[in-house]
This record gives sequence, structure tokens and C-alpha cells, in this order.
Amino acid sequence: MKSLTSALQTVPAESVRGAVTAGTELLRNAGIDGARLDAEVLLRDVLAVEKTEFFLRLDEALDATAQREFQKLLLRRARREPVAYIIGRKEFWSLDFVVTPAVLIPRPETELLVELALARATQVVPPRPFVPPHPSLSPVVGGEGKGEGARDSRSDAFACLDGKPPLKILDLGTGSGAIAVSLAKELPQARVCAVDISAAAIEVARLNARRHGVEERMEFFCGDLFEPVAEEREGFDLIVANPPYIRNGDLVGVAPEIRKWEPIMALNGGADGLLYYRRIVAGAGDYLKGGGSILIELGDAMGDAVARLFADAGGFEPAQVYRDYAGKERVIAATKISAAGKGSDRG
Ligand code: GLN
Repeated sequence: MKSLTSALQTVPAESVRGAVTAGTELLRNAGIDGARLDAEVLLRDVLAVEKTEFFLRLDEALDATAQREFQKLLLRRARREPVAYIIGRKEFWSLDFVVTPAVLIPRPETELLVELALARATQVVPPRPFVPPHPSLSPVVGGEGKGEGARDSRSDAFACLDGKPPLKILDLGTGSGAIAVSLAKELPQARVCAVDISAAAIEVARLNARRHGVEERMEFFCGDLFEPVAEEREGFDLIVANPPYIRNGDLVGVAPEIRKWEPIMALNGGADGLLYYRRIVAGAGDYLKGGGSILIELGDAMGDAVARLFADAGGFEPAQVYRDYAGKERVIAATKISAAGKGSDRG
């Protein structure tokens, strides 16, 4: 006869609910923060169900195969492998991205960069031509739908791009393609060049572009920062990047999930963390069109240092630093002074 305690441990684990409880316990004992959520996400992956269906099935029995599979995933997580690598996916900008250990796992904070890039993109686009209120006075504007009522300013701004050169965006160090694909998805007139030094990362980014139906408006290059687009000087309306920015010496201190599992070349920003900012800022002026903007994610408290890099490079409006929802400096944005503007007085 089994003891009461071991019986109690076995019986509930045969239901979905019981398995989550037991899995949570296992992860908690391994020192994992957010053990309950991780256990749930892993079990949902085993059962291949979404949140709602999962909660409806809490009292159902879990068959032996599923239990074994769940156990395997829990052990991986207990060894600090990030959930996103275990299940091979991560949500970003409400899109489902494939991730492998070849790419950095997209972070929610990076959505601020997408948001700001979208806001800039609508400014880069020339304003909608003035349309006289009386239909008979309307100029010929290529088959534009009339009287559709209030549309949001974004789709309005892009509607007028018909027949005009597309908005060109460059994403440096694209990784999973989270930023590039999100922008391509949001901006139907955009053409996005995604560059990464890792061929494996480029494959993941391409896969994500295909999954989200934007592959035909994207180009992928394996290479070092601007090098693959060297022919496209002054070619971009927008440059975005989430470069490696962890200071060399700080790498030992980061969570084991990051240090042991994420690609070091996507994290290591050199001795002062600014290695890639220097290189990106140095090239940005050559590759942006006048009036175009560059937005870069920032490491902890790097705003002033990177703003100084832009000021020293010259040719940019004063850079702006944006904080994320946790109040941390997260994104820096700078606009290239257009030749027609005050750029001429700069040295
Ligand atoms: N956001 C990651 C972290 O702080 C670092 C990503 C990066 O270096 N760009 O863990």
C-alpha cells in the first residue's frame, strides 16, 4: 500500500491541474521565478492548446505520454533553458515568432522601439495631398477610395504612397527578425532590409517573415552592419537596431537563462557596452536619407553617452531618449538633417 502522501502526489498529477501544480513545485524548487506560469506554458505546448482551451481542460486526465513529455520540458527549464527556446516560439508585437538559440529572444521592452519607429515612419511619408472638399474639384489621385469615414492617421499617411517610392527600412542585427517583421507587417508600403552577421539568425528571420506574409517586401543579408548594403548610400528612410549592449564585465552577472543560453554575440557590447553604437552612429549618416531617422535600443543608462556620439558625428538633429514603461532609458532616436535644411552649417 502506498502512503497517503505519495498517493496524493500521484493522483492529482494525472489531471491537467495536478500536473501544473506538480510542475510548478518542481520549477520552484529549482529556483525558477514565475514557476507557475512557466509550468502552464510548457504544458500548453505539450497539449498544443491555447490559453482558453487549456483552462477548460484543467480537470481532464493527462495521458502518460503527455506526462512524460511535460516532465522532459520541466527538466530542461529547471536547467535554466528559457521557455522560449524550449517551445521554440515567443510572442512579440502580438505576433508569434519562431526562436532558436541562434537568436536573442525578443523582449517586450523592444516593442517601444517598434512603436516609435512607426510614429517616425508616418512623419517620413509626405503628407496626404490636399483634396478639395467638392468631388468635382478633386485632382486625379490614382483610384483612392472616397468617403470611407475616419481611418487612423497611420493608414491614411500610407494610403498616399501609391505609386510613390516605398519607405525603405534597414534593421541592423535583426536576429529573429522581430523588429523588421513587425514593421513590415504594420507598414504595407515598407521595404525592409534585415542584416545579421549570423547566417543561422538570418534563416530564422526569413522564416518569421514568411510566417507573417511579409517575405516579398523584405531582403535578408548575412554580413557586418552596413557592409551588405554598402551600395545603398542615402537609401533609407529609417534605420532600426537592437545591438548587443551588455558591457563585457557585466556578462557574468546576468541571469543564467541569458548568459548560458542566448547567443553571446547578440549580447556582448564590448568593454563599455558602446562598441556597436559607435559603429552604427558612424555609418548612419551615410545610409539615411535627409530627414530620415535612426532608432536604437539602449542598454541601461546609456542615453547620454549615445546622444553624445550623435552630437559628435554631426549632421543629426539633437537625439531624443525615450524611457520604457519601467522608467528605464530604452530607445534613442535621431533624425538626419536634410541637405535642404540647416545641415549646411554643420562641419
Ligand atoms: N535586453 C537584453 C538584456 O538586457 C540585452 C539585449 C542586447 O544586448 N541588445 O538582457
